[in-house]
Parts: sequence; structure tokens; C-alpha cells
Amino acid sequence: MDRPRITIFDTTLRDGEQSPGCSMNVQEKLHLAQQLDRLGVDVIEAGFPIASDGDFEAVQSIAASLRRPIVAGLARACTGDVDRAWQALQGAARPRIHVFLATSDIHLKYKLRITREKCLEQAREAVRHAKSLCADVEFSPEDATRTDVAFLCQVVEAVIAAGATTVNIPDTVGYSMPEEYGQLIRTLREKVAGIDKVTISTHCHNDLGLAVANSLAGVQQGARQVECTINGIGERAGNASLEEIVMAMRVRPDRYAYETGIASEQLYPSSQMLAEITRVPVQPNKAIIGRNAFAHEAGIHQDGMLKNPLTYEIMTPQSVGVPDSRLVLGKHSGRHALALRCEQLGHQFERRELDEIYRRFVVLADRIKKVQDSHLLELIQDVSSGNLSNSDVAGSQGKKFPPATAALPFPRAVSAAAGANSNDSHPAQVSGSAGQAMVSIPFTDHHSDQEDYLWGV
Ligand SMILES: [Zn+2]
Repeated sequence: MDRPRITIFDTTLRDGEQSPGCSMNVQEKLHLAQQLDRLGVDVIEAGFPIASDGDFEAVQSIAASLRRPIVAGLARACTGDVDRAWQALQGAARPRIHVFLATSDIHLKYKLRITREKCLEQAREAVRHAKSLCADVEFSPEDATRTDVAFLCQVVEAVIAAGATTVNIPDTVGYSMPEEYGQLIRTLREKVAGIDKVTISTHCHNDLGLAVANSLAGVQQGARQVECTINGIGERAGNASLEEIVMAMRVRPDRYAYETGIASEQLYPSSQMLAEITRVPVQPNKAIIGRNAFAHEAGIHQDGMLKNPLTYEIMTPQSVGVPDSRLVLGKHSGRHALALRCEQLGHQFERRELDEIYRRFVVLADRIKKVQDSHLLELIQDVSSGNLSNSDVAGSQGKKFPPATAALPFPRAVSAAAGANSNDSHPAQVSGSAGQAMVSIPFTDHHSDQEDYLWGV
């Protein structure tokens, strides 16, 4: 097969983290970046190094620990930002500096207070400087979709001449329509000298619910990189959702004949891990990875499903890593079933840790009959965050969660039910339906300074 390969650029840790309530600390970001690596994303935008020391450290530690994916750091179009990004990327096997500068008249006039000429010059200079440090340079004309098209072409041509290797076209405010966005990509391909030597990228926001449709329209007109996030998190209504982009191409190759390097069975574990770290639950009807995405309740649907799943299922739950819902975990479930479910949720454990999880699982299952994924995740969190009995401490090295997360609010249903942490100040919060346990969690207050910072593309 000779399908064009689409580069999946994940910006969960940068644009995604800018959504309210989604801030993550350094260890949480590293943990998620490792999952993004397992998922097979090509580029991880790890942060905005000049925005805060925390962001700098996150980019630095991700760059130092991952070898396969490209690790990108964001920078405004000025020397200080570019230098700081480059400094954070020092340990990277495959670094990328991502420079952005707004190009729409409204941003130039009211935000930057510069002329088009100055904007053109600043973009060119910043890219030239980035290129003197790093071979892989991406440029984003922020608010590209509201930029005068002739001027946009001029800027893109200038940054390509200055050494940009990827040109990203952000629909920063989520204003574009699919055919319009596709047309813009086509126009750039037709009018910009040197565009065939660089990768064109999409970066679409979801203010009108069109981020995925716009991204796909861009791909159909020649974009070969898509910027997206897990669970579609991001500024305001979010970014294009990674899982939707990937599965649209996989389920409909007749319309979107493109390849990605994504291991689709890692989509659900990635989604769960992000929801768990940020405490921002996924909407139940979210495509691909929502709780109800594969639930069939109507009688006629259930009947059809039992006769042949293809009657109502365009992809299998297994293909996106959703655990088989028919496999209910209860007190008769064995260690193997428990280990398998943990693995499906993105957690592998050493024997001693699994022993501890199993021990608590049995106690819990005895009380609440059916153990839901949310309970299991909570229990995993509890054990992994160091609440092991003394004899187990030596076995905790393989823990998947950073200790810092232990201090964050988390429903205590499992630990309370299992008799652990009896002196914990949080009361048990089991709601009526066990599967709903994560819904009532208050947002954490660990905002970083970055939320008031310039918010990028
Ligand atoms: Zn954005």
C-alpha cells in the first residue's frame, strides 16, 4: 500500500495543558509523555519553555528521556524565547523549535501593535535564529485563518526561505469551515515558492465543533502533519481530537487513504491516563473513547449486536483499546483478569505491586460486587502513590505514578472501602452508580502561572 503518511503532532502537554483545570506538574507530564510514546505519536510538543520554570523542566525532562519521537518546544518569535526553548531541548535526540507569531491584522494591531512589515521581518529573523541552533524548525502564523491571504503567503514564503521545515496553519480561534480551511491549504500550495520542500501542518480549534473536520479537509488538500490532543483538550472548546482524526482515517480509508504511526489500541489507555492525571473526566458520549462510545442500550441495537456486531459497530472496542465490557471484574476474577484489565488501562506492574493491588481488589469486590474501571484506577493510584504496607516498600520501584499526585484530591471510595488510609481526611464519596465515581471530583487548584501567559497558537 502506498498511502501518504501523516505526522501526528501531539500538543496535549502544551496547548492541551492550557485548558482550564488541565495543568500538570513535571512528573505528570513525563508520565503522560511516556504514554504518548507508546501510543506512537511522531512529535510531542512538551511545553513552552520560557513560560515558566515548570514548563522548562518538563520540556527538559521529556527531551532527555524519550528517544524515538521528536520533542518540540514552543517559542514566541524573539531571541530570548528561541534560546530558552533550545536550552530546554539540549538532551533531545530529535529536537524541534516551534516558533509562532500572529499575522492577522487584528492581532497585529491590538495585541502586538506592529505593522505587517515588522511582523514579516520578525518572523524571518526568529526562524533564521532558530535554524542557526536546530535543523528542525516549525513556524506558525498565529490566527492564520483570519490573516489576509496574500500576506499569509508572503510570511510563509519568507519563513521557508529562512529555514523553516514545517509550516503550521493555525485556526487559532476555531473560526474556519472545512472547505474554507482546505482551500487555504490549497492556495498556499499553489502560491508559495518553496512550499513543496516543507511539511504543511494543520492546527484547528473546536469552537464550532469543526476542529477534526477542518484538519481532515487540510489533509485532503496536502497537509501532512496534524496537530491534535488526547481527548481533544485545549484552549476554550479544545483542539482537534487525536483519537477522532486517527480513527476517521482508519475506519474510512476509502475516503481518507492515509497512514499514521499510531497504535490505536493505546488510544483508550492514553485517554484514561490523561483524565486521571487532570481529574477532568471525558464526556460520556465522546467519540471513540467516551464511556458510552461502545455502549448499546436500545433493545433493537442489543439484539442486532448479539447477532452480528457489524450491525451497529463501525469499529471494535478492542481496536481502540477499550476493555471488553462483557468482562466484568468481581470477587471471582482471578489475578490474571485483574492484571489484564490493569494493562488495558495502561498500567503494568511488578509481581509485588500486583499482589498488593489484588489484595485490595478482593476486599473491595467483596463489598461493591462489580469493580468499575474508575475504581480500579483509583486503587492503582493509591497503591502506586506509595500507600503500600511496610513490607512492600521495596517492591514499589516500578510504580507508574509520581508521588506528587498522591496529594491531589481523588475520590477515596476505594481506599475507604478497602480499609486503607483510615486516617485520611477525605470522606468516602461513593456515588449511587459506581461508574460515576470520577464525575464529582472537584477541579484541582494547581494552576501554573502559565494560564495568564500568552497562549500560543
Ligand atoms: Zn492552539
